[in-house]
Amino acid sequence: MALTNWALWRLPNRGLIGFVLLVDVAAIVGCAWTFLRVPLTSGDAVPFTVLITCIVLYTELSRPVERVRERFAGTPHISLDSVWTFAAILLLHPGLAALVIALSFFYRWFRGQPNPLFRRTFSMSATVLSGFVATIFFAEYAVPFDVLPRDLRSLAVIAGAGAVFLLVNTVFMTIAVYYGTPHDKLRDALAKPFEYSLEAATIALGVVVAWALRDWPAVLVLIVGITLVLHRGVLLRQLKRQARSDAKTGLLNARAWRDAATDELVRARGANRHTSLLMLDVDRFKLINDRHGHLVGDRYLAAIAETLRTEVRGTDLVGRFGGEEFVVLLPGTPAVHAHAIAERIRSSVANRADDLPEHVTVSIGLADRPGVTDLDALIAVADRALYEAKNTGRNRTSGYQVTG
Ligand code: GH3
Ligand code: MG
Ligand code: MG
Repeated sequence: MALTNWALWRLPNRGLIGFVLLVDVAAIVGCAWTFLRVPLTSGDAVPFTVLITCIVLYTELSRPVERVRERFAGTPHISLDSVWTFAAILLLHPGLAALVIALSFFYRWFRGQPNPLFRRTFSMSATVLSGFVATIFFAEYAVPFDVLPRDLRSLAVIAGAGAVFLLVNTVFMTIAVYYGTPHDKLRDALAKPFEYSLEAATIALGVVVAWALRDWPAVLVLIVGITLVLHRGVLLRQLKRQARSDAKTGLLNARAWRDAATDELVRARGANRHTSLLMLDVDRFKLINDRHGHLVGDRYLAAIAETLRTEVRGTDLVGRFGGEEFVVLLPGTPAVHAHAIAERIRSSVANRADDLPEHVTVSIGLADRPGVTDLDALIAVADRALYEAKNTGRNRTSGYQVTG
């Protein structure tokens, strides 16, 4: 791979390239420093070898699960590496722990996980540095793991070191994600709460691995098994979520939206709440496809979906109804508010600042029927309103009379 051809140089931001290189260099320098300054002991040889064996074995055993994942494009890789790497951080010389981390990253890469080299190197370096910070924290408050009293205070220190490891790593990764891809809000660059809890769980398993390695190494066989089951469980959850979402826009697909909306209407009737429905259709979308091609058309659909997501609350249900039509169910929202939301969406779509060749507009039909629990009846009302919006000039909201 020619140095000038690296994907790293194509990152959007000079500062980010500098940051990535700085983290890589800091990890290498830190590693060299620990080997020069911290004496190696012969007691590290066995746990080091066992952990590396576990990583290789685990990577091989999880290949069938990973192959399922690879068949579904867009399912992010699940990393459970902390099970082994956090054990290394607790038990080993910091330089050797860094080697274990490096191996865990590169072995899977070597076994065919596609990912630009610089990303892999960056994640690895960030993890190595996080490991160093966790080691410093641990050394500050506790004696080495081998002679650590098995009491509550020690457990608290270990939990603290785990939290430091997770936190520092999160800071590095969030900076890279935030500046590496366009994000309006820092929150969007963060991972999902579930992903953090999964990471915390693998770190906790890492503590058990360290303990097993010292006191009863055969238990590691059980931990490999537990981790494999966890891996499969997480993958299943990802696939279920994927089956519910629309590939082009990431919104709920028509079926998942219908299921969720039906449930919501039943709940709304129980609670005697207003529920409004918006139905959106892109204006003259065929012309956009004709002028710029269907691929550009698809980018419009993704952009409109993103606008919809940012303009409504997390509890509102946004779906792709079909083609260039979208639906939004607004629980607990009377028509007067739904109308204001629809107008806000309409104006955000019309004024989107992006690199698409021209502006598009949407027409919106609104239905508000307190007490209606039949989704199809609600859709029929919104649909009629949408036709009215189209017939009266497009780029407007119909179905609610604004008075005063
Ligand atoms: P109107 O304002 O009356 O809605 O005009 P329109 O051109 O949007 O309406 P029409 O129903 O004639 O065309 C809808 C177009 O949406 C036609 C179809 O090619 C396009 N379309 C539907 N689904 C997709 C898609 O997934 N990707 C792209 N690029 N275009 C799509
Ligand atoms: Mg249409
Ligand atoms: Mg249309």
